[in-house]
Amino acid sequence: MSVELLSNRINALEESATLGMTKKARELAALGHKVISLSVGEPDFKTPKHICDAAKDAIDAGFHGYSPVAGYPDLRKAIADKLLRDNKIDWKPENIVVSTGAKHALANAISVLINPGDEVLIFAPYWVSYSEMVKLAEGTSVIVEGSFDNNFKVTPEQFEAAITPKTKLVMFASPNNPTGSVYTEEELRAIAAIVEKNPNIFVLADEIYEYINFTEGGHFSIGSIPAIKDRVITVNGVAKGHAMTGWRIGFTASAKWIAEGIEKLQGQVTSGTGSIAQKAAVAAFNGPLDEAYKMKEAYDRRRKLVVGLLREIPGFKVNMPDGAFYAFPDISYYFGKTDGTTAINNSDDFCLWLLAEAFVATVAGSGFGAPNCMRISTAAADEQLVEACERIKVAVAKLK
Ligand code: PMP
Ligand code: GLU
Repeated sequence: MSVELLSNRINALEESATLGMTKKARELAALGHKVISLSVGEPDFKTPKHICDAAKDAIDAGFHGYSPVAGYPDLRKAIADKLLRDNKIDWKPENIVVSTGAKHALANAISVLINPGDEVLIFAPYWVSYSEMVKLAEGTSVIVEGSFDNNFKVTPEQFEAAITPKTKLVMFASPNNPTGSVYTEEELRAIAAIVEKNPNIFVLADEIYEYINFTEGGHFSIGSIPAIKDRVITVNGVAKGHAMTGWRIGFTASAKWIAEGIEKLQGQVTSGTGSIAQKAAVAAFNGPLDEAYKMKEAYDRRRKLVVGLLREIPGFKVNMPDGAFYAFPDISYYFGKTDGTTAINNSDDFCLWLLAEAFVATVAGSGFGAPNCMRISTAAADEQLVEACERIKVAVAKLK
């Protein structure tokens, strides 16, 4: 008995490329190798103290029972307030559903909207889990590719050309993982105008990197545009901006009937998410953002550092990311080369080889719908980043 007995649904699912590489890096580190892990996208900062204190208070105050399926009322209110304050999105607490991370929130939204055969337009490069979530919902992913020269962004014309009568949803992250690209207000308004003309299309806007945005224009939320507000599901959480990856709090903000569908789903599958983490999240959403800004400054410094160093490596083509904490170089110059033992034919070969050769863990672009690239997380100490870039430079010099 073995894997063929797993459901077809699970056998068709890819392993998460980000978590897969992270597992490999941990295994090598456990064997005693000095691995620099730049694979998982995870802040290297501690959760701010006022948030941790709120969690401690929640334990002491006895918030140990099941939480309401859609989240505690004070958290849903804190999220509604945050959306109005930061995003100009005016939803009530009843429009918010709290989930186990933004990942869960995205999967929920897709599950409640997609029927078998519905097409989901995914702007590429995209975060690894999007296409797999669509697969689980038996939808059809239609990948719309942003070009390197347009900072990996999809143009409104490309978006419009990809729409068919079967299109139900369009989804993208801004700031983007893996490219760091940020859609401007103007670009999002142009996309919204197309959505407005197509009344059957919904938008899933992943804003998890909202606070890590280096552009002058800052963050703009497509869900704030009144004409399409009822058809936008905004997803966000605490993982990135507040350095709270392990707390597992995310949310959807949507029309009430969608929120109710998500609550019904959670009621049968997960119940409400962790009670202590919810109380910590109240402090995150209501509290000061000074720590978040400090972390953003560090990411800003590191992106410049890493991009500068990567640009010194022969053959690497690198855009300057406008947000998030990743560099996403095009490494296709090395495809077809070998170190005499290992042939590099694609980004997966390249990243596996780099891990074995230089003990630097990255993630292949293939999982993000960008097979010419690789992703390097810049959420690590400056010295580690410098050391990693040096190791990469030394390693690739062996490829002929
Ligand atoms: N969306 C994007 C674009 C991400 O990079 C991540 C990574 N964590 C998530 C969603 C999921 O966030 P969370 O940890 O809150 O589940
Ligand atoms: N979002 C992070 C990443 O892209 C976390 C890992 C994951 O959940 O895939 O690396």
